[in-house]
Amino acid sequence: MNTYHDISDDAVWGVIDPWAIEIRRRIHRFPELGLDTPQTQALVESILDDLGIEHQQVIEHGVKGLIGPKDGPAILLRADMDGLPIQETTNLPFQSEIGGRMHACGHDAHTAMLLGAARFLKQYEERLERPVVLMFQPGEEGPGGALPMIESGILADPPVTHAVMVHVDSDQPVGVIGLKSGPAMASPNEFHIIIRGQGGHGAHPDKGVDAIVAAAAVIQASQTLVSREQDPVIPLVVTFGTIVGGYRENVLADQVTMTGTIRILQPERRQSILDRFAQLVSDVAHAYRAEAFIDFRPGYPPLVADVAFTHHVASVLERVLGPKNVVWLTNPSMGAEDFAYIAERVAATNLHVGVVGPGSQSGIHSAGFILNEGAIGTGARALAAVAMLAGST
Ligand SMILES: [Zn+2]
Ligand SMILES: [Zn+2]
Repeated sequence: MNTYHDISDDAVWGVIDPWAIEIRRRIHRFPELGLDTPQTQALVESILDDLGIEHQQVIEHGVKGLIGPKDGPAILLRADMDGLPIQETTNLPFQSEIGGRMHACGHDAHTAMLLGAARFLKQYEERLERPVVLMFQPGEEGPGGALPMIESGILADPPVTHAVMVHVDSDQPVGVIGLKSGPAMASPNEFHIIIRGQGGHGAHPDKGVDAIVAAAAVIQASQTLVSREQDPVIPLVVTFGTIVGGYRENVLADQVTMTGTIRILQPERRQSILDRFAQLVSDVAHAYRAEAFIDFRPGYPPLVADVAFTHHVASVLERVLGPKNVVWLTNPSMGAEDFAYIAERVAATNLHVGVVGPGSQSGIHSAGFILNEGAIGTGARALAAVAMLAGST
């Protein structure tokens, strides 16, 4: 069975590539947000119907498709479908037709890549040695669609043992796939802090408790978590994003509220870092006679790519795309990704699909983001190759 030959069947891809690009443009014109992606879901389901691929809704707007054998350990391929609340400024002929919404993170391209791979795999279904589960999820940009889909059984029946996701990468040239094994993306942990002092006349600070001075000390001290308590070769980010407090120039502020994010790469250190932050904030506030109240809203876990599986995927992709088109990313990203919930449960990895080429501009999450659509073919081939060739390692 010469499947490496099959995967580079130019005649088949010559039909799929323009078809997938057309799908991507249709999705691009009508971005939907968060978990509310009914139109995109309906489009995906109608295409799966056309392709004769069995599918079902797993959560309200999440879709599971199945290709190949019905039993045995499965490989899952994941695409996300949601856009961002950004006003598009690209002036592309297929730019967003919905004001204030844009596919600025490339999830339209991910959905098209997965449909392209699905069409290819359906054509070669009898060659598949293991079931291939297709996962189309909403809500990646928040509040998260992966966890509810896991809780609704996407990893069961057939049991998933390996998983791969695609994400566009505006730092890599088109045609290239980047891989990162081990810790790859961070856990974002949102915090809300209230520092409470006691108001009074600005001329008599001794008669009150200045919440602003206490807040300033808290902000400064928090940075020592990164500089003095964290292994200096492992990234950790503490960012205060907002600070609000006070009334006027001659009044002691009785309260300051602050919000921010703590980005952590190490799953095993996550809780202890958050505990230390809370203790430090509280102790420093006390040192200034104020009180601190902290509320955490923990986000996705860190994404840790399985080392052995990622190396196996790299060897498959090198044969399919050529060794120079598969690169190892040296640094993890402090961004977040809810595929991390899947990577906590099965051997998983992320394919960073390069999108820089003629016509491309800006980076993801910007209003002017344009990707080179050649990336859609690369992503589709990569997903299909991994599903077909990366057996149960
Ligand atoms: Zn994004
Ligand atoms: Zn994204």
